[in-house]
Amino acid sequence: MTRAVNLAAGSVAVALAVLALKLVAWWLTGSVALFADALESVVNVAAAGAALVAIRYSAMPADANHPYGHDKAEYFSAVLEGALILVASFVILNEVWSVWQNPRQPDLSPMGILVSLVATGLNAFWCSILFRNGRRLRSPALLADARHLLSDVVTSGGVLVGITLAMITGHVWLDPLLAGLTALNILYSGMRLVRESVGGLMDEALAPELLKRIRCTVSTAAEGAIEAHDIRSRQSGRWTFIEFHLVVPGDMLVVEAHAICDRVEAALKEALGDAVITIHVEPDGKAKHSGVLVL
Ligand code: ZN
Ligand code: ZN
Repeated sequence: MTRAVNLAAGSVAVALAVLALKLVAWWLTGSVALFADALESVVNVAAAGAALVAIRYSAMPADANHPYGHDKAEYFSAVLEGALILVASFVILNEVWSVWQNPRQPDLSPMGILVSLVATGLNAFWCSILFRNGRRLRSPALLADARHLLSDVVTSGGVLVGITLAMITGHVWLDPLLAGLTALNILYSGMRLVRESVGGLMDEALAPELLKRIRCTVSTAAEGAIEAHDIRSRQSGRWTFIEFHLVVPGDMLVVEAHAICDRVEAALKEALGDAVITIHVEPDGKAKHSGVLVL
C-alpha cells in the first residue's frame, strides 16, 4: 500500500509542476484557452492532494471503529475529484462565453505553445503510470486521478489545436470554440467519474464477468457440497467481499464442511486476488432449488 501512497504523492508533485508550466504558457500567450487549461491544473493539484489523503487513510488496517477496513475512503476522493472537474468545466465555459462575445487575438508566442506541449507530455507520461499501477493495485483513487489527467491531456490537445488554427486562419473565434469543446469534454468525464464513484460507495453490483467467475469458481471448488445460493458480492477499493449459503448433506461432519469452505475460499482468493469471504453452511433440507447454483 505504500506504493499507492508514493504514487499519490508523485501525482501532487506532477500536478504542481504542470500548473507552473501552464501558468507560464498563459502568461506568455494571453490565450483564454491556456487560461482554462491552467485553471484545470489548479483542480488537479487539489484533487491529487485529496487522493493522497484518502489513500493514506484507506491504507489503515481495520479497527474496532471500522471493522470492514477504511478502503471506501478512496471513493470519497474520487467523488470529490469528479465534482472538482465539473466546477472547473463551468468556470471555463463562463470564460469562453465572455471571450466569444468579445473575441480577441490570442498573443501567440511559440514559447508559450512549447511550454504547454512540455506540460502535456509530462501529464501524459504520469497518466500512463497511474493507469498501469491503479489497475494493478485496484485503487479507485489512483484510477480517478489517471482519468482526470487523461481528460487534461485531451483538453490541452484541443487547446493547442485551437490556437494553431486561429493563428493559421486568422479566425480568432476558433480559440474559444476549441476551449468550449474541451470544457464539454471535461464536463462529461467529471459526470462519469462522479457516477462511478457513487456506485462504489453504494455497493453497486460487480461487473457481470466477475460475477460469472465467482459462480464458476464456487461450483468447481465446492465439491462435496450440494448447492450454493444467495450469493452476494461487493467491491471496496481493492477488496472484494463475497458471501453465500452453502448447502451440504445434513449428516456431514463439521470438519468436512469446514474443509470445503476453506477450499472454496482459497480458490476464490486465487481467482479474484484480495477477497473477504463469508460462507453460511446449511443442511440439505434448506436447499432452495430456484435461481441457485447446483454443484
Ligand atoms: Zn440459505
Ligand atoms: Zn474457518
